[in-house]
Amino acid sequence: MDSRKPSRRQFLTTLAAAVPAATALASMAGAAETTKPAETKSAEPAAGPFSVPALAYAFGALEPHIDAKTMEIHHDKHHAAYVKNLNDAVAGKPDLAGKTVEELVKGLASIGDEKTRTAIRNNGGGHLNHTWFWESMTPGGVEMSDDLSDALNSAFGSVEDFKKQFNDAGLKRFGSGWVWLVKGKDGKLGIVSTANQDNPLTDGATPLLGNDVWEHAYYLKYQNKRADYLAAWWNVVNWSKVAERFKAAK
Ligand code: MN
Repeated sequence: MDSRKPSRRQFLTTLAAAVPAATALASMAGAAETTKPAETKSAEPAAGPFSVPALAYAFGALEPHIDAKTMEIHHDKHHAAYVKNLNDAVAGKPDLAGKTVEELVKGLASIGDEKTRTAIRNNGGGHLNHTWFWESMTPGGVEMSDDLSDALNSAFGSVEDFKKQFNDAGLKRFGSGWVWLVKGKDGKLGIVSTANQDNPLTDGATPLLGNDVWEHAYYLKYQNKRADYLAAWWNVVNWSKVAERFKAAK
């Protein structure tokens, strides 16, 4: 008997127990994925106007704060599913298919058909929220601009107080959703939390930074410890991107 067989079987069993079979196979097919730039791993051609954007960094680049496997499943499976369902929702509806995802999410109330509106609320929101989420992170994080820290100090007392309030809102979101730094309709900076894939744009606010508090964003590494995930996430926030959005919202 081939002495390698038991260990290989054991390896497969271990993998299969850890992750769904399809993911395990995908991961075996490309064990080096985490070290390759993400743009080499674009999804299948989009069957519709929307597609999953490539990451600007490798799946493993946000380690140890966000693990490579979570990033891979989150980007390639979860985000891809929102995109597929969004494309399905606008198929055969040129008035919707011709819009940007921001326009769709902002204009939800104008979509008359309830089934389509719900599909776009969930999946347009899912596509938009995740697209911004990937851009909101960068390996090792970056320094905050003076403009932005001045604004946060003035709105929340200090940057530390801002983070504390943001984490608190993320922790209190029951079930799945997001926590956001927004520029509100009143022009003031504020913290809001939304359920599911709702985006503050729908309510007329401008999101500057959002963190995903769905369990799929952290469960593999942090299990039930959402607070630990929220705390660690600040290490990878791309403050340049936030400052850019802040400037654009002025
Ligand atoms: Mn997510």
